[in-house]
Amino acid sequence: MSALLSLENLTVEYAVGGRSLFAVSDVSLHVDRGETLGLVGESGCGKSTLGRAVLQLRRPTGGKVVFDGTELTGLGAEKMRLMRRRLQLIFQDPIASLNPRRRIGDIIAEPLIIVGVTDKAERDRRVREVMTAVGLDPDVAMGRLPHEFSGGQCQRICIARALILEPELVICDEPVSALDVSIRAQILNLLEEMKRRYGLTLLFIAHDLAVVKAVSDRIAVMYLGKLCEIAPTERLFAQPAHPYTALLLDAIPVPDPTVRPATNLAVGEPPSPLDPPSGCRFRTRCPRADRQCAAEVPPLREVAAGQFAACHHPLTGPA
Ligand code: ADP
Ligand code: MG
Repeated sequence: MSALLSLENLTVEYAVGGRSLFAVSDVSLHVDRGETLGLVGESGCGKSTLGRAVLQLRRPTGGKVVFDGTELTGLGAEKMRLMRRRLQLIFQDPIASLNPRRRIGDIIAEPLIIVGVTDKAERDRRVREVMTAVGLDPDVAMGRLPHEFSGGQCQRICIARALILEPELVICDEPVSALDVSIRAQILNLLEEMKRRYGLTLLFIAHDLAVVKAVSDRIAVMYLGKLCEIAPTERLFAQPAHPYTALLLDAIPVPDPTVRPATNLAVGEPPSPLDPPSGCRFRTRCPRADRQCAAEVPPLREVAAGQFAACHHPLTGPA
């Protein structure tokens, strides 16, 4: 497999009250063509910022975003506009991301108009095709307004809109977090089906590991703007290397009521990204932290085949 997307030392800062907030700090990773990479971490760790920086919706402050061999950070507006049809984003709140006054058929057709498909019959044909693919009946739904649909159906509409230009990479930013638990599985299954049908590569963002487990080939874990660990899904669940990954695994609820919840490895709230801890950013909540962790930023190192962790004292090593 070859990388469709690679991030090299990606850094994104926000100016907040005259100071720099490092939302994404020096993140390097790649997503292979046809792969689903899960990206997890607590709320505020920089996942959405990373996703938006890939699409250049938020221009990075440093580093590179390379998509299919093209460096996106240096592209001008017009070239980026052409590139954007190959990369799409699906948001967390499907209802809020649909214009309430526009009909579903027009919402889904809009990307076609933007790229210059002027033939109305051709647009209609493609809208009907993609609506059917995502499980919406075009005859019933095309003329309706977003408020006539449930959250799950609105997410189907957003998925149709994202797929109509036949993109290669789709960034799914917490696509089921705002949905009822009962319909999450349906939307996850739909994304899997669309991935196969359209040959997509997915960057799948979620705040908990349980959601990404079923869909991801590999999982990347972020903490306070930094990458902690990246590993094949099975390996990450069986043998986490970073103490933060272990903490996230412990936080997954166990259905068996006789199992005592695992004691929290880490205490308290994450520190502010305006004033991150020196050395390893996780050290203030880490039971393994020592002086080295305060003094040196741990580089991402391969601890086992395909498993990388940024930790001075990883929980697992080479077999
Ligand atoms: P996540 O998606 O993981 O919840 P975000 O990428 O939304 O995290 O946010 C990362 C950090 O950047 C947070 O501390 C957040 O408060 C901050 N942030 C996000 N957007 C902005 C913005 N437009 N201006 C200033 N700070 C922001
Ligand atoms: Mg987010």
